[in-house]
Amino acid sequence: MTITDQLQRPLRDLRISVTDRCNFRCTYCMPKEVFGDDYVFMPKSELLSFEEMTRLAKLFVEFGVKKVRLTGGEPLLRRDLPDFIRGLSKIDGLEDVGLTTNGLLLKQYGQPLYDAGLRRLNISLDALSEKTFGEMNGRGIGPERVLANIDYAKSVGFQIKVNMVVQKKVNDHEIVPMARFFKERGITLRFIEFMDVGTDNGWSFKQVITKKEILAKLQENEQLEPVAASYFGEVAGRYRYTDAQAEIGFITSVSESFCSSCTRARLSSDGKFYTCLFATEGFDLRSILRSGASDEELARAIKSVWEKRVDRYSDERTEQTANSRKKIRMSYIGG
Ligand code: SAM
Ligand code: SF4
Ligand code: SF4
Repeated sequence: MTITDQLQRPLRDLRISVTDRCNFRCTYCMPKEVFGDDYVFMPKSELLSFEEMTRLAKLFVEFGVKKVRLTGGEPLLRRDLPDFIRGLSKIDGLEDVGLTTNGLLLKQYGQPLYDAGLRRLNISLDALSEKTFGEMNGRGIGPERVLANIDYAKSVGFQIKVNMVVQKKVNDHEIVPMARFFKERGITLRFIEFMDVGTDNGWSFKQVITKKEILAKLQENEQLEPVAASYFGEVAGRYRYTDAQAEIGFITSVSESFCSSCTRARLSSDGKFYTCLFATEGFDLRSILRSGASDEELARAIKSVWEKRVDRYSDERTEQTANSRKKIRMSYIGG
């Protein structure tokens, strides 16, 4: 019997946060009042090396993981990322490796990442307006560079999706212009409901624009039809334009939670294993790894954590849980 046969709960996706650092200070993720210039990020010695991450990824793949997504903080800030991708691409049974990035450094690293075998990019962009985007990323950086890098990444050959976190009275006026812009370019735009990740972003239900509201806004001018999910546990609800080769998607963690089909594990950059994005604690795989444990021992630890999993945070979310529970930060766990 293989390890995979022994797992009771499906485990299909793994998110690996490769760093907790970022060159943006998005108001909804790393507000600069908390992550100021003197903020102390994790020292390098605490981060898993890419060899350590690859070793763990291999074990997760034995448990049934088919997709790995690299995230952060900003993953392009970690040096030698192409070597890591090259290592991951060689894992037998791993079907898909993707990367989520704010896109700022794609001009520099796009081609080496593609050459290393990476094909799929999710690029975050919350607005086309200079002012709105600059305010939301906390650095006053306009969208031109990200847009130019999206074009560049497309020309390199990447499949691209754009992620937009939507917040009421912050960037909801950008829903229609963003949709139009990416429809014209045949790029999928995914609207992400603003979530109460971490404890720093002052979240409340009042700031959330739901999928229903976004869709209604878009349908004033567009004909959209739903697209069936392409696999069990697909997170985005998809729609296609009837008059163009383009799609939109919704990540509805707040208004239509999907915990019952959640098959996703998360590994933080310091080697903690989380079974939910809204967890308060992770399981320390790094100390087991660095104590000289065998693959068998590591596999046993992963299995026991996953099998005990009872997470369904989004199904049960209330204003109270959102603001009282001490959850891990988005920039630490990676989304
Ligand atoms: N720095 C990279 C980026 O921004 O794409 C990768 C890490 S970021 C934490 C991953 C994703 O989480 C991004 O698409 C970001 O917009 C999203 N995100 C961060 N905070 C969020 C929040 N409070 N609610 C919803 N999505 C959030
Ligand atoms: Fe950085 Fe991404 Fe968080 Fe923005 S969302 S602060 S780009 S990690
Ligand atoms: Fe999965 Fe937790 Fe999100 Fe539910 S709240 S879908 S269990 S990560």
